[in-house]
Amino acid sequence: MTDKVKLKDIKPYITCSLCEGYLIHASTITECLHSFCKSCIVKYLADNKNCPECDKILHPTNPLTVVMVDNTLQDLIYKLLPNLKKGIPYL
Ligand SMILES: [Zn+2]
Ligand SMILES: [Zn+2]
Repeated sequence: MTDKVKLKDIKPYITCSLCEGYLIHASTITECLHSFCKSCIVKYLADNKNCPECDKILHPTNPLTVVMVDNTLQDLIYKLLPNLKKGIPYL
C-alpha cells in the first residue's frame, strides 16, 4: 500500500514547521492536532505558550501538558522513509 502513497502529497503532514525537516520523535498538540519534532516543540514552548502553526494559546502555565508523543505518526513516517530511522538525512 505505502508505495502508492505519493511522498509529496503527505509531506506537509510529516514535516515539522519549526525545523522544516521530517518529524523526529513526532509530538502532537492535542488541542489542535499540529505535529512537531519533540525537541523542536519542547524548545519552542520553553519561551512560548501558543502553537507555532496556528497560534492557539495552549495552556496558561504549562503548554507541554497538551503535547503528546505520537508513536503512530512516527511509525508511519519510518515506514514511508526507512532511511530516516537509520539516520540518513533526506534533505
Ligand atoms: Zn523539528
Ligand atoms: Zn496548532
